[in-house]
Amino acid sequence: TASKETMQFQTEINQLLQLMIHSLYSNKEIFLRELVSNASDACDKLRFEALADPALLTGDSELRVEVDFDPEAGTITVRDNGIGMNRDEVIANIGTIAKSGTREFFERLSGDQTKDAKLIGQFGVGFYSAFIVADRVILNTRRAGMEAEHGIRWESDGTGTYTLETLNLPAHGTEIVLHLREEERQDLLSAWRLRSIINKYSDHIPLSIRMRKMGEDGKPGDEWETVNKASALWQRSKSEISDDEYKEFYRYVSHDYGDPLTWSHNHVEGRLEYTSLLFIPAKAPFDLWDHNHSHGIKLYVQRVFIMDDAEQLLPRYLRFVRGVIDSSDLPLNVSREILQGNRVIDQMRSGSVKRILSLLEELAEKEPEKYQTFWNEFGRALKEGPGEDYSNREQIAKLLRFASSHTDTDTQNVSLADYLARMAEGQDKIYYITADSFLAAKNSPQLELLRKKGIEVLLLSDRVDEWLTSHLPEFEGKALASVAKGTLDLGTIETEEERKSQEETEKGAEGLVERIKNALGERVEAVRVSHRLTSSPACIVLGERDMALYMQQLLKQAGH
Ligand code: ADP
Ligand code: MG
Repeated sequence: TASKETMQFQTEINQLLQLMIHSLYSNKEIFLRELVSNASDACDKLRFEALADPALLTGDSELRVEVDFDPEAGTITVRDNGIGMNRDEVIANIGTIAKSGTREFFERLSGDQTKDAKLIGQFGVGFYSAFIVADRVILNTRRAGMEAEHGIRWESDGTGTYTLETLNLPAHGTEIVLHLREEERQDLLSAWRLRSIINKYSDHIPLSIRMRKMGEDGKPGDEWETVNKASALWQRSKSEISDDEYKEFYRYVSHDYGDPLTWSHNHVEGRLEYTSLLFIPAKAPFDLWDHNHSHGIKLYVQRVFIMDDAEQLLPRYLRFVRGVIDSSDLPLNVSREILQGNRVIDQMRSGSVKRILSLLEELAEKEPEKYQTFWNEFGRALKEGPGEDYSNREQIAKLLRFASSHTDTDTQNVSLADYLARMAEGQDKIYYITADSFLAAKNSPQLELLRKKGIEVLLLSDRVDEWLTSHLPEFEGKALASVAKGTLDLGTIETEEERKSQEETEKGAEGLVERIKNALGERVEAVRVSHRLTSSPACIVLGERDMALYMQQLLKQAGH
């Protein structure tokens, strides 16, 4: 009835498709993982929406994914009875990359296939991986809750355009038909091959993935059977789960392409009963620094999926953590509103935070290199911790790593404990300087005296550092002190002699100070003889109570 419309892909998609085909070909079977994972997400979404509107599930409430193939037509079909999409959603989700971090992703591409393959993995391979093996892809979809006549067919050969048309679809959900490239048919169009890919990648998706049962004649018949374990991996006991199973499950929950750095799996019993399986990724996703970044914890109640990105389950500074939490105490019909301020949620949250912090502590102790990898990727998020999570401030402080004048490199690998162990005799403060770049911090004239005296200074140049230091007044009884604020009080590190000679210098310079003060007038609050410089003639410092310079600049940029 309605005519076919031809639409253009967003230009980036063409580039992404070419890259995908070339860089990921050696791992082409992941297309099935991606499509099955989308199908499973679609079922999860329907289940969630049905909490508020049970009518969405009537008629067909057993959510599932079907994988089918047709050797004669040369096709593989992945079908789900999940949420489906309406026309606008198809255009938004399949014709455009709405993801944040997209520009950064394209800027970082190098043309080197192995490197780019990794980047694509981090960015998320997704739906377009279908074109690694197919030269024509058809997607038929109908959103749950809409009438049959509102079905949508999307079709593309992956070269710049796609078509859209409206058609009658009897069932809600999505069906994706891949017309395989000639050279892929021999390899992929076999029940055995497809089952083994599903077992490899999708065994522990807690949803039934089905293929046709083999008939007497050894050919696929009309009955269907579940081919994955479809069990909730997290409910099994730890000793029964191999590292490979954990890693594959991580890829499922995280949409990541690589391995996790480490994980923690816990069955908690007692007043509260829940299971958590929490992963620390090895690489930060592209949108981690985006404010709308979604939280990566899936909430289940008694193995039934409830919702994704349950942000109440972890504080923001742990937003890089991925995994599942499965509660036995929450009602099955929980909504986002109920989660807010819920006692069960709060307890699971604080328990999970403790698990993660201990996991990181253990990693830092036993595998410092891995911990460094973690820190380089996620340290800036963890630095938000002391401000956001006061009760765990001390434990978080132990996990912090900084660049320091001791090593003078921009690698953030000095812990506060390292600093304490190297403190000079009589030193009672942890000195730091904040600047807007590592080099500015390192070359700051305000460091000269401390360097001369061999006193270590932490060199802070992340945006979040100002926030961090304002929420971390001390560590193990030693105050953190900025060398850029007020008069530099070195306390007992100075000798009596030094103090005397300083006083003399000050007296001798009184005239000069007066002249400079007159020349600068209102622009400065005071002019002082400083003893913190050894080779620079002058430097600007802030008053004790002034906001650090950097913060001022930030506020200015933000228009305050
Ligand atoms: P991601 O899964 O990481 O969001 P994809 O490229 O795999 O990225 O999918 C893009 C989007 O297309 C999904 O977020 C979803 O909105 C939509 N989508 C893909 N497959 C399906 C499906 N089977 N049912 C419903 N929506 C889907
Ligand atoms: Mg996907």
